[in-house]
Amino acid sequence: MALVGALACCGASGCGDGGAGSHGHGSSANAHSSPAGASAPAGGGSSPASRAASGLPSAGAQAAELHRLTALGLPVYCAGHQGHLVGLTFDDGPGPYTALALRKLRKHHVRATFFVVGKELVNGPTRPRAERAIGAVGDHTWTHPFLPGLSAGQVHDELARTQMAVSRASGAPVTLFRPPYGARSAAIDRQSQALGMVEILWNVDSRDSEGADYAGIAGNVEQGLAPGSIILMHENRGQTIRALLTILPALARHHVRAVSIPELLAADPPSESQLRAGPQGCPLVGASPNGGG
Ligand SMILES: [Zn+2]
Repeated sequence: MALVGALACCGASGCGDGGAGSHGHGSSANAHSSPAGASAPAGGGSSPASRAASGLPSAGAQAAELHRLTALGLPVYCAGHQGHLVGLTFDDGPGPYTALALRKLRKHHVRATFFVVGKELVNGPTRPRAERAIGAVGDHTWTHPFLPGLSAGQVHDELARTQMAVSRASGAPVTLFRPPYGARSAAIDRQSQALGMVEILWNVDSRDSEGADYAGIAGNVEQGLAPGSIILMHENRGQTIRALLTILPALARHHVRAVSIPELLAADPPSESQLRAGPQGCPLVGASPNGGG
């Protein structure tokens, strides 16, 4: 099977802040995976009043868009880049910094998506529920393996076991998936689709998994703060958490709002032709050629 752009997504037990163990970085932006549970309604409620307050699509509209994307079975690298929304994503948790990251996001009223590694749930079994409350959670496999190196049965077990555990931990179905290192193939795409999950990659890499320090991480993210961007970060890195001090206040300065991936895709849906173009369907992919994850 053809490997599409291996990316570097460091597993919870993978690269440390020093970047050792960074995996191959393809030239294309790729993804990291994790299933995002059906996101909690934007703004904390789905009533007309709460929708008006949040200005975001209803939970039903989000589910409908995820259903459309699942049916297409194509990986998503960015949204339609027509609005003023972006998606911040945090991979490889839960970990020691998760609580701190959530506090910072809440303080700035920023929503995000968390791609959870199943075996790391022991570090914070209640975290997925807290994460879903401020956005969405997704499946990032159980052991963070390089999926193209596994048998079909092993890939299924990695995805399905995590989907079930994260669903239980978050209290909602998990409908988003991100492959570790962004390493995917057509066969892996089909497995994600069969489990009812949309494969979410990214078009902006913070490069935190490559060892960038907090200033570098913040700079890489700020460069990518354009409508429709899906931004890759990791919640198990101290430098990333420190970078949030710069990144979160920068959102307003760049006239964008950070929302969960289901909210982003429903509000600014990628076209089918854009999806078929893969990473090249996202204008900012070139800004971050060494995709991390
Ligand atoms: Zn990862």
